[in-house]
Amino acid sequence: MKADVAVIGGGVAGTVAALRARAAGRQVVVLSAGWGASALTSGCVGLAHQAICGPSRTGREAVTALLRTSSAHPYNLVPGVTNALSEAIRFFRAGPASPPLRGASPDDLPLLLADDRGGLRLADLAAESHARGDLRKSHATIGVVDPIGLSWFQAHSVAKGLSRSLAAACSAGVISAAPNVAVVGLDYFRRQSDSLTTATDSARLLDVEGAAARFSAAIGEALALAPVDLLLFPPLIGVDATDAILDRIEAENKVVCAEMVGTSPGPSGLRFQRALEAMLAHAGVPIIRARVSAAPDDCVAALSGGRTRTLARLACGDGAAPKNVEARAFVLASGRYIGGGVEGTRPWAEGVLGFPIAARGEFLERESSAALTRDDPFEAQSLFAAGVRVDAELRPLARDRRPLYANVFAAGDLLAGHDGVVDGSAMGVALLTGHLAGRNAAAI
Ligand SMILES: Cc1cc2nc3c(=O)[nH]c(=O)nc-3n(C[C@H](O)[C@H](O)[C@H](O)COP(=O)(O)OP(=O)(O)OC[C@H]3O[C@@H](n4cnc5c(N)ncnc54)[C@H](O)[C@@H]3O)c2cc1C
Repeated sequence: MKADVAVIGGGVAGTVAALRARAAGRQVVVLSAGWGASALTSGCVGLAHQAICGPSRTGREAVTALLRTSSAHPYNLVPGVTNALSEAIRFFRAGPASPPLRGASPDDLPLLLADDRGGLRLADLAAESHARGDLRKSHATIGVVDPIGLSWFQAHSVAKGLSRSLAAACSAGVISAAPNVAVVGLDYFRRQSDSLTTATDSARLLDVEGAAARFSAAIGEALALAPVDLLLFPPLIGVDATDAILDRIEAENKVVCAEMVGTSPGPSGLRFQRALEAMLAHAGVPIIRARVSAAPDDCVAALSGGRTRTLARLACGDGAAPKNVEARAFVLASGRYIGGGVEGTRPWAEGVLGFPIAARGEFLERESSAALTRDDPFEAQSLFAAGVRVDAELRPLARDRRPLYANVFAAGDLLAGHDGVVDGSAMGVALLTGHLAGRNAAAI
């Protein structure tokens, strides 16, 4: 198999890299062993937002603040990073089959969304079903739907938590008034599901023909008892037809409806991952389901030091006769522990070519995972910021701190220096570095 650019990883970073190289006219293939962390996300994109009740910051301001405190962060690799982020976001949203993400440019305040544990979340972009529930818009009464019979969602504690979170946001000046939060009991699922139903199972029930009409009617009955301005559902509004179902409920019941953010694994991540794959299909980029590995002679351990080389091929598939994938350039977008890009076995190594893994600014040797964690689970953990180090072109570095291959680039969670879930930059890094890695690979 031959391509101009081979991308290893079908998550958000790999998808953006592949689309960017394809947009430059290259033949691109994505090689993916399976779904990684991207299929677990809420689909909300944050650039660097952390504390809800801290100073109100635009995406651009949040990135600038993060750079002041985190010198190892991948954003530091990119001069004019906020403009580069804007361009990456524009590119991601411009594709005709792009996921219907809504939200603000990095120059606006982020969306303020409710999560399904009673907290609040800041997002620069979010799936349409979440973005409809932007709490910066004023609402007198918010209803949290209690889908009676679904054991995985505790509406009463979520409503209490949300009420507290909104009061705190109001005291901090994030919103001007805290709405009332009520619970709206909905007797729809009790008749159709059992106690082991997951969020995704529940969502699938609404994709069945005729279900949206019955569901909307049940909501009408519930709202007659407890009218509200904004109705928040746990994320269960279908897997395939979410926005159409929400449109219908809104039109028939004259109420704004949105999904809360959260529940992992759940339908939001599933929808997001499917949308990524639809984007690739639309752009004519094939996805090959296979694990990729390098020939022993191409692995970093056999080569480190000396001149910069050109990688010619990788092996694709675990079977007795793996196929070669030849390309002019390769993008490693293989994620961290969940995706499989970082092997936490000792010695630590990147999973395809065996690049060394760095944490706290140093390459790791045989350290245990425990040595990279702190006792307090709420403190930043070096373990979750471990990854490959790269040069300004996003080429992974060998132990001599030089890129071993001129035509291999890295993107996304695989990069060292950021714990994106803690610093709020996870998806921002994946979009930015995927975009740049795809551009650089296309230029080879
Ligand atoms: C539970 C959870 C919830 C999260 N929620 C959010 C959120 O709401 N918002 C947010 O911004 N971030 C969130 N994050 C973080 C976010 O998911 C990641 O930062 C982002 O998805 C990383 O994308 P990626 O493309 O770099 O990696 P991944 O999505 O992990 O993709 C890695 C890909 O590489 C493939 N791969 C790996 N090794 C090989 C190999 N040898 N051969 C072939 N393929 C290979 C995998 O199969 C996979 O397709 C969350 C993370 C988790 C774990």
